[in-house]
Amino acid sequence: MLQEQMPELEAIIGLEVHAQMNTKTKMFCGCDNDAFGKEPNTTVCEICMGHPGTLPVPNKEAIVKAAKAALALHCAVNRRSHFDRKHYFYPDLPSGFQISQYDFPLASKGNVRYDLNGNEMICGITRLHIENDAGKLTHRGSVTLCDYNRAGTPLMEIVTEPDLRSAEEAVAFAEELRRTLIAVNASEADMFKGMMRFDASVSLREKGTEKLNPRSEIKNLNSFKALEKALRYEEARLRKSWKETGGPLPGDITVGWLDDEGKTRLLRDKETADDYRYFPEPDIPPLVMDEDRVAEIRRQLPASPREKKQEYVEMGLASAEATILVEQPAIRALFDAVQTKTRDAKRASGMILTQLMGFLNAEGKTPSDVPSVNDMLDLVDAIDAGTISGNSGKTVLEKMVATGKAPKDIIAAEGMGQISDDAKIEALVKEAIAKNPKAIEDYKNGKQAALGAIVGYVMKMTNGQANPGKVNKLLQKALKK
Ligand SMILES: [Zn+2]
Repeated sequence: MLQEQMPELEAIIGLEVHAQMNTKTKMFCGCDNDAFGKEPNTTVCEICMGHPGTLPVPNKEAIVKAAKAALALHCAVNRRSHFDRKHYFYPDLPSGFQISQYDFPLASKGNVRYDLNGNEMICGITRLHIENDAGKLTHRGSVTLCDYNRAGTPLMEIVTEPDLRSAEEAVAFAEELRRTLIAVNASEADMFKGMMRFDASVSLREKGTEKLNPRSEIKNLNSFKALEKALRYEEARLRKSWKETGGPLPGDITVGWLDDEGKTRLLRDKETADDYRYFPEPDIPPLVMDEDRVAEIRRQLPASPREKKQEYVEMGLASAEATILVEQPAIRALFDAVQTKTRDAKRASGMILTQLMGFLNAEGKTPSDVPSVNDMLDLVDAIDAGTISGNSGKTVLEKMVATGKAPKDIIAAEGMGQISDDAKIEALVKEAIAKNPKAIEDYKNGKQAALGAIVGYVMKMTNGQANPGKVNKLLQKALKK
């Protein structure tokens, strides 16, 4: 019986990642770059709206952030790069072209090391370039609403080598890339706000061969879950098609991911560079990054997320706790502040990772709603000075999250201050002795445990606010008289 042998195939995957930079202003104008929660079309000007005759001015902060990200990805920052116009027509692009970098990108030839199931993997970075984002379209029935607040937001486009071999590798790489961009403060990379998006290309080839076959590019994936699901689906689809046709795709294609249906949909044959009619942006001079400038940026690079995570693990934190700190800068800042002050990583992790994160989750708040570092340290002070007990500290923290108020205001308003005043406690002790003759009797007959009942009585009278150590001490003193 003749049976055609199906060759052993491997998936070849590469990513293009778009990450919004967290600059104050947009890429080529002075508009506010933080449009989140703002009325549509309120953070726009004639430049980002593409009016004729306006001049774009590159944002220095964005260039420095992109260079920092490039160095963290072990790329070479090119001494000379330039901006190009990439033409296409779409209603979210007011000028009819995007200002990008085509043949001379800001940086090239880097790599990212990442962990996959305990193994160290590496993925090459082909290039990193700067461009501006488009606006946002919202489709409602037969109408489409255009919001240009996002138009002109600085983006980094990071293109990988086709070094990834599975959806799992692609996600593990993308997560490490995200942590790296956050670590250098080049992007908040908040997936929920669409600050990081992926185009993923997948093709198949016979194992052992080198040639790259035509690929399917899945556009605009905005979560790790979508990235993984879409790549798994598309790889399986290409394998099936290989089985049916006996070979790879005849040419490159572009597909979209339908998350609700869990499948891809053909959008078009893939564009080539010619379709975009690239030409150098005539209004912006070439970008020159001299060695001193690059060296200065390199000096500011923080530890990589993998190094940072290792530091936390060595402090005694669990791997999952260390990962939270690496991925969430606002939480990390609080942890670092409490840890530095108390020199007690366990205590800092209890306060920040257990209590605070628990309250944030319960209140449905995001890590950006955390208390300020100063308020957090004031709370630590209040506990350490004995103003409140550690237990009350937890309640204060809960109220800090819920109301955003400072700890001293909460302690004052709730009357939570611990009673440590000797005269006050002496009076309370006296009252407790008078009202518990039986316990005093027992104590005098040698029953030590009876003292606990008197202390408990004082604590009850003060709603737990009396300093228990002092109550004990003053009670012993009173009984010796
Ligand atoms: Zn503008």
